[in-house]
Amino acid sequence: MDLKSKLREVPDFPKEGINFIDITTVLQDAEALKQCIDQMTQEVKSFGDFDMIVGPESRGFIFGTPIAYTLGKGFAPIRKKGKLPYKTIGVEYELEYGTDTLEMHIDAIKKGDKVVIVDDLLATGGTTQSNIKLVEQLGGEVVGIVYFIELSFLNGREKLKGYEVKSIVQY
Ligand code: 5GP
Repeated sequence: MDLKSKLREVPDFPKEGINFIDITTVLQDAEALKQCIDQMTQEVKSFGDFDMIVGPESRGFIFGTPIAYTLGKGFAPIRKKGKLPYKTIGVEYELEYGTDTLEMHIDAIKKGDKVVIVDDLLATGGTTQSNIKLVEQLGGEVVGIVYFIELSFLNGREKLKGYEVKSIVQY
């Protein structure tokens, strides 16, 4: 199945001029969902052995957890400031206006853990850059990054030089 044909493009969301790629049309289609998770799982496996999957709020949870479950690994969430209940480390990242903070639990991964980062979509790469910082501050090693979708025209890979990056649908 052509997964791209199952994605919905929503013009002017969340604001004018942005063509938002809506993944919910894939999630609600049993066959498309299975193919998507299966293909992403194959890409994760291509990095070789690893210890943990890490995914950012909120669509990183949707894709990261079933892949972790399938491969018999754990999953650790990255969330916006103030959402995680235990002790956290944080990394600030730039928004269009001002900054925000992403957090991880201090014991989410162990020193030396090999980590694969999973998210729904690569745009500018800013989100993933912050995710990498958090994992590395906790002593983890990012062995690969897998997205469902990559907006190639935004050159997000430039920000991720030196890391293995895979995606299954490209625009
Ligand atoms: P970046 O930090 O690479 O610029 O943006 C990627 C993040 O923003 C991802 O976590 C992703 O969920 C979200 N994002 C940005 N644009 C889109 C879009 O068109 N569709 C979806 N589903 N997510 C997007």
